[in-house]
Amino acid sequence: MQQMQSIADRWKRIEQEVHDTALSCGRNPQDITIVAVSKMHALSYVQQAYDAGARVFGENYAQEFRDKIQEAQSLDFTSEWHFIGALQSNKVKYVIPHAKLIHSCSTASVADEIQRLSKKLDIITHVLVQVNTSGESSKSGIEPNQIDAFMEQLHGYANIKPRGLMTIPTATDDNAQLSKEFTLLRTIHENLKQTCEHPNDWDILSMGMSDDFTLAIREGGTHVRIGTAIFGERTQ
Ligand SMILES: *Cc1c(COP(=O)(O)O)cnc(C)c1O
Repeated sequence: MQQMQSIADRWKRIEQEVHDTALSCGRNPQDITIVAVSKMHALSYVQQAYDAGARVFGENYAQEFRDKIQEAQSLDFTSEWHFIGALQSNKVKYVIPHAKLIHSCSTASVADEIQRLSKKLDIITHVLVQVNTSGESSKSGIEPNQIDAFMEQLHGYANIKPRGLMTIPTATDDNAQLSKEFTLLRTIHENLKQTCEHPNDWDILSMGMSDDFTLAIREGGTHVRIGTAIFGERTQ
């Protein structure tokens, strides 16, 4: 039987793998952020990853996000929290102002609500635009041919700072397909950079999860979102 690995062991292994992959493709390991995806896991799991060195955590469900952060604050636990899950406008209130970065902005109604609440609190909220790179209409994220219009809309919001793009690719182990989708995201990101008012702030590509993060790093990903490989299977 396989020995049970601790969260600290898994974290260290992932950190090493991210480091090695970055070097193997000529990138600076410090340019890659590991977002430890703690959805559906207790805060004690987060604490273990934190003790091993993790500092950025990602959550998918708005209420769980808010509750976990409140619990973490009572423990005086200083980490950065990202919201990465599907977002509806009526749930934005749970996410702001705690989210250092929202990875999943892709509808006008959500953007409107982020703007409204950010303005009310006098903060600037950093967001990524989630793009549907799969070519399947059932997937969430904005279609590549609608991004220009959406970006224009985002630039009109004084309290939203767009930082880059995010994708969840097709669920497949076909590396050629995954590479194609990651390349598409990177290409769209590069094209949009040309028209950016502040190109240095347009610097994030959130792509890659437990099974495909090395591929995503080779294709230029700056933020990998890793859940299972750090925390184990989610039981729900
Ligand atoms: C759950 C989730 C992840 C992490 O997935 P793993 O396969 O467990 O690493 C990453 N990104 C998003 C958007 C998720 O919902």
